Amino acid sequence: MIEAIVLDWAGTTVDYGSRAPIIAFKNAFAHFSIDLSEETIRQDVGLDKLTHVRKMLQEPEVSSSWEANHPAIPLAKAAEEIYAQFQVEINKVLADTAQLKPGMTDFIKFANTHHIQLATTTGYNQAMLNQILTLAAKQGYNPAYNITSEQTNHVGRPNSDMVDLALKKMNISDPAHVIKVGDTVNDILEGKNAGTISIGVVDGGNLIGLSQQEFNHLDIGERDRCHAKAAAILKEAGADEIINNIADLIPLIESIDDQQHEIPLLLTPGPLTTSRTVKETMLIDHGTWDDDYKELTQWVRHELVAIGNASEDNYTAVLMQGSGSFGVEATLGTAIPKQNATLLIAANGAYGERMIEIADYLAIPHIVLQVPEDQAVTLAAVEETLAAHPEVTHFAVVHCETTTGILNPIEAIIPALADKSIITIVDAMSSFGGVPIDLEKLHVDYLITSSNKCVQGVPGFSIVLAKKTTLQETEGNARSLALDLYQQYRTFEDHDGKWRFTSPTHGVYAFAEALRELEQEGGVTARTHRYHTNETLLQEGMQKLGYELVINQNVQSPIITSFKYPTTSFNFRAFYEYLKERGFIIYPGKVSKCDSFRIGNIGEVSADDINRLLNLIKTYTKEKLQLPIGS
Ligand SMILES: *Cc1c(COP(=O)(O)O)cnc(C)c1O
Repeated sequence: MIEAIVLDWAGTTVDYGSRAPIIAFKNAFAHFSIDLSEETIRQDVGLDKLTHVRKMLQEPEVSSSWEANHPAIPLAKAAEEIYAQFQVEINKVLADTAQLKPGMTDFIKFANTHHIQLATTTGYNQAMLNQILTLAAKQGYNPAYNITSEQTNHVGRPNSDMVDLALKKMNISDPAHVIKVGDTVNDILEGKNAGTISIGVVDGGNLIGLSQQEFNHLDIGERDRCHAKAAAILKEAGADEIINNIADLIPLIESIDDQQHEIPLLLTPGPLTTSRTVKETMLIDHGTWDDDYKELTQWVRHELVAIGNASEDNYTAVLMQGSGSFGVEATLGTAIPKQNATLLIAANGAYGERMIEIADYLAIPHIVLQVPEDQAVTLAAVEETLAAHPEVTHFAVVHCETTTGILNPIEAIIPALADKSIITIVDAMSSFGGVPIDLEKLHVDYLITSSNKCVQGVPGFSIVLAKKTTLQETEGNARSLALDLYQQYRTFEDHDGKWRFTSPTHGVYAFAEALRELEQEGGVTARTHRYHTNETLLQEGMQKLGYELVINQNVQSPIITSFKYPTTSFNFRAFYEYLKERGFIIYPGKVSKCDSFRIGNIGEVSADDINRLLNLIKTYTKEKLQLPIGS
């Protein structure tokens, strides 16, 4: 969001053609019998006026002319005398040249209705500026903060001090949300140095230098050449955009707002930020009975088994409409027979708890192994529970407990239970695709994930990767018609990839694209590496800023990281809103025993994004929370 605009005066908002300083300089030098060309004057317009006089006095012709006419007065003293005369001269012309430029009225109205703050910086001194302010106010232009270099220890353009001060007065910490507008090279440099969006205006600016009447007398070709020449000079200086009329700022601000708004990064464990190309697949509608769609579904199922490092002889992928929990509920409700079966659920967070709730709803006999939220489930604890409960036939655990970001050691637990002929179910919702998982090595019976996590698709369906021999034994088990995993499987198999009921067609196309992009990135190995890099950067950066981790580093997944509140009075809502306004959506905490928040590392997110986030959090911590920050 653009929060403020910092504008120059002469040639930008008032004084078409930036005539006043030119006339005043010309007359001031003429007062001392020196004829100054307009070209010489225009070279350095935008500087503070005393500096400007000194610069012009350095021109060989000007200095020799001074020495010839005023041998008694040294050059250093000359600048001050000419500057004094400039102040007299400018007073004579200001009234005539303080007229608002065309487009200003519309622009001021837009800024007011959109609550965009206006400030100004200038090369004029305070006394001159005060006169212009009065004249501008009479025409309806009242920028709230008006800075001269007298307010910044005489440090003017092209340094950023005046803009910095304006931002400070407006209480704005991120210059990326500010536009600086001006008509000279020094204006553009000032904006760039301050880190704002720097925009050059050409019509009626110093680089064209003609009065409105003179400019209007040019033919179209000449006007275009003037525009092009001025625009090229401002571009060369680093202008982000060039506009003709000040009112052209209106559509420009709207489009910058759209861009800055359009792609907030979701640093959440799904839905997460997907690529533009994944989103674009959803612009086309598809019929569910269509052969291409059925083939695509089969290809998606095939790819998923491959990502699980498994052979289709042994494993199959069953897609299920709905969010991830629908897949968990379909699996628990179908895998466990209605008679002579007991489920052991190991729970160390909200998603383990959700499985317990599902078992309660479906009246599945179950035993719970409760593990503290900040600790991983261990094989030893599972085996101890099994020893006490020989009736257990099925076992369920979460892989990455998204509550905290803990990674439970399924590689140790699952094969050991498979050896005991216990049927195993893993909720790998937030890890599959982002952490390597080998279905065959695990001997896992069911592994559940969803379309909107590490494969980086959009929400719409869950995925159950099932051992075929196990799934084939489950006919008639289901406690629900729609969530019958066995019948869902049979329909895909018997009808060449046809979904049983209406399917999320757009989501499936998006997912297929996401699978292709996973492959292009270098598969799960490359993706894990990127997530790990994000996680390490985030974790180390946050700890430097004084935010403590909730869980021990040796059980931390690369998926999502939990941080403790930095103080007991920390206002998460305010922190969240601050980051959201600047393009990042984070996640509240879910740990019950301490106040925490979470930041996800997954999705279309790069190390650059994490660094930008850390910078924002640093500013917030320093300025809003006023907490001391280490190195
Ligand atoms: C996201 C997630 C789920 C599913 O949640 P839904 O809101 O139903 O998509 C289940 N388990 C884990 C570990 C998850 O991260």
